Amino acid sequence: MSKIIDGKAVAAAVLEECRQEVEQLKARGVTPGLAVVLVGEDPASQVYVGSKVRTCGELGIHSEKIVLPTETTQEDLLAVVERLNADPAIHGILVQSPPPPHIDEEAIVRAIDPAKDVDGFHPENVAKLALEDPSGFVPCTPAGCMRLLKEAGVETKGANAVVIGRSMIVGKPMALLLMAKGSDATVTVAHSRSKDLPGICRQADIVIAAVGRPEMVKADWVREGAVVIDVGINRVEDASRKSGFRLTGDVAYPEVAPKCAAITPVPGGVGPMTIAMLMKNTLISAGRS
Ligand code: NAD
Repeated sequence: MSKIIDGKAVAAAVLEECRQEVEQLKARGVTPGLAVVLVGEDPASQVYVGSKVRTCGELGIHSEKIVLPTETTQEDLLAVVERLNADPAIHGILVQSPPPPHIDEEAIVRAIDPAKDVDGFHPENVAKLALEDPSGFVPCTPAGCMRLLKEAGVETKGANAVVIGRSMIVGKPMALLLMAKGSDATVTVAHSRSKDLPGICRQADIVIAAVGRPEMVKADWVREGAVVIDVGINRVEDASRKSGFRLTGDVAYPEVAPKCAAITPVPGGVGPMTIAMLMKNTLISAGRS
């Protein structure tokens, strides 16, 4: 019988820690602040931004939501980032991805003060993660995955971990965290050009799927007793739902789960952890300020 790793419960515990940390910061005269910038009207981004701002409110974190029209220029967006960089009430800045296609996202990320880059995407923070320098910020989703592994009592030391996906947001930082001192996993990173992905996955004690392909990881890819963390969030059509779709991960959960020692569901696994770790990073930043 596999253990279902309850991301909602772990995220709630992380948020409770955050609530206490907010009180401690306020007692020191620091009100933590997060600015969330949304350019355009992407519906999924609107939902993400809304829940980030709402969670700030629930924790007593000051938040500034800046919604800019789709036609906002690179220059105007950079000016907003500069203003937030200079604002002492703001400890974390994030520009919701993806921006409209005319915006150079990389240039925007580089413009954010690395000390306020609570997404952990600025090159300085990427380097610090690779250097195992704790003065940076760890990207929220992989940080959330590590916390889930810890809470589920999964031993990473010496484990064979396979990360599927090599994005800068999930796959690469995930691999760095798993191989870092203290985690000590032996890490394989697979991607769209990997040969024999099922064979690679079958070697794994821990599988992290961060691909964006619904139910790609099948039961015969996963060895008996493996731990599976499913980062994928995919919308698939479902006529039986009022919305017309349902969310599914990158793992074929019904067939994979019975083989696993532990597995995260979608929804209710990694998803809730991402916002919780964003709040953590904002408080870390406020604490350093
Ligand atoms: P991405 O598109 O940037 O990267 C996908 C990676 O998967 C790439 O490295 C690519 O090489 C690899 N890939 C694509 N097709 C493949 C194949 N057939 N076989 C093996 N590898 C393949 O995506 P991302 O931003 O890393 O996100 C991945 C998934 O995680 C998406 O479903 C996304 O929605 C989800 N996500 C969830 C959270 C969360 O909070 N739970 C956060 C970020 C991303």
